[in-house]
Amino acid sequence: MSAQLFVVATPIGHLDDMTFRAIHILKSVAIIAAEDTRQSALLLKHYNISTPLTACHDHNESNKIDIIIERLKHGDDVALVSDAGTPLISDPGFKLVRAAQEHGIRVVPVPGACAAIAALSAVGLPSDHFSFEGFLSSKQSQRLLQLEKLKNNTHTMIIYEAPHRILDSVKDMAQVFGADRAVGFAREITKTFETIKKMTLGELVEFIENDRNQQKGEIVLVIAGATEEKDMESEDLDKLLLRLLQDLSVKAASQLAADLTGIKKKVAYQRALELTEKV
Ligand code: SAM
Repeated sequence: MSAQLFVVATPIGHLDDMTFRAIHILKSVAIIAAEDTRQSALLLKHYNISTPLTACHDHNESNKIDIIIERLKHGDDVALVSDAGTPLISDPGFKLVRAAQEHGIRVVPVPGACAAIAALSAVGLPSDHFSFEGFLSSKQSQRLLQLEKLKNNTHTMIIYEAPHRILDSVKDMAQVFGADRAVGFAREITKTFETIKKMTLGELVEFIENDRNQQKGEIVLVIAGATEEKDMESEDLDKLLLRLLQDLSVKAASQLAADLTGIKKKVAYQRALELTEKV
């Protein structure tokens, strides 16, 4: 059997969130490629794992890949871990996984903790359709542009944010998405000060402003998708309806507008009526 690259998830806080399989694999591979060897050494010590570690992080990933691929081709199994959670999820590892695949090496996921999924599972927002947006830009102008692009998504959106930017970022979200958009706030998941709350973005700004402890630790934001009636810009709807009304009846125009935008037919019909009365 040729060597395999195991992508191993590790805990995001609570050390017990390690699977039996992850421990077994970390004990059995020839080498563990870690984002930060000092961080992973603590986990290995906790589980009495003595497998050698080698650093594989954003800054040396390209150089390290060749060395790791050589080991794999030589027949040595390798495990990839990041500091916390699932490697590649806002963590290094993508280039190594891609290189392994290109060299015909089997890549084996060893699933476990992931902050995004843990947050989604507990905040009480629709989970049937969601997107993971990772970290937004640290530059406000860039961040506002990113938020504008996300604004009309009707699915739930998961965003990672650093504690020192959380207040500014949530204020920007309230400005772009509207203060009444629902948001899940998941902080320090699985740790002593775990905080899981659902409220509106406006309420979250106040909550974070009034309690500086909420600006500490690790945070996931889960933003509700836009509701069709409210978040389709009324100007955009008007433009579309006015154009359709040039060629179609109120009924046909509102039906088509509803099909094209996902807005409720009743809402489109009502607005089309108002527009025809104005003309
Ligand atoms: N690979 C990790 C995963 O699977 O979730 C994510 C790594 S990313 C560098 C770190 C970010 O993940 C943090 O800034 C925070 O947004 C989120 N995160 C990680 N652990 C968390 C926790 N215990 N509670 C809340 N958010 C967490």
